Amino acid sequence: EINYFFPKQQTLAVIKPDAMEEHRENILEEIRGSGFCVTQLKEMVLSRQMAEEFYKEHREKPFFSQLVEFMCRGPCMMLVLTKENAVEEWRAMMGPTDPDQAKATSSSSLRARFASDILHNSVHGSSNEQHAEEKIRFIFSDISSDTEPKTDSKTER
Ligand code: ADP
Ligand code: MG
Repeated sequence: EINYFFPKQQTLAVIKPDAMEEHRENILEEIRGSGFCVTQLKEMVLSRQMAEEFYKEHREKPFFSQLVEFMCRGPCMMLVLTKENAVEEWRAMMGPTDPDQAKATSSSSLRARFASDILHNSVHGSSNEQHAEEKIRFIFSDISSDTEPKTDSKTER
């Protein structure tokens, strides 16, 4: 029996700077092997401003400045993952924020295997659909501060 109606969902996944050198290939392999479709992909170094905006929900947290510092210390891999139930499935693959908790619950999760501590925890994933859409737009829109606004040649100046 074939179900012709597959409502796909998107989520934003990030391989954080701590995992880029040693674990990137493992993580990418795992993503591909789990039936996610990687619909957008780019490697980038976040500016401090972008990292602050990306994690603005945590602005008041005591670890905010450490988090921003960490996220812009080197390249990140940004991925849009598409699958049914992508948000929840990617969160499950990542495991809990704290690797100690991750190891205690599901030793196969990415954070259980690759995270070194609660800050340097190797991967990010959107926590709900609305965040996913907002962060995907933020990371993958080509509107950036160094892009000149396009001017219509017919416009009088
Ligand atoms: P998650 O990434 O699992 O959604 P949060 O949204 O709570 O976790 O936090 C965002 C990120 O901030 C975490 O992935 C981690 O890098 C960092 N972080 C969270 N809690 C702490 C903490 N208590 N101390 C240091 N860093 C933290
Ligand atoms: Mg979160």
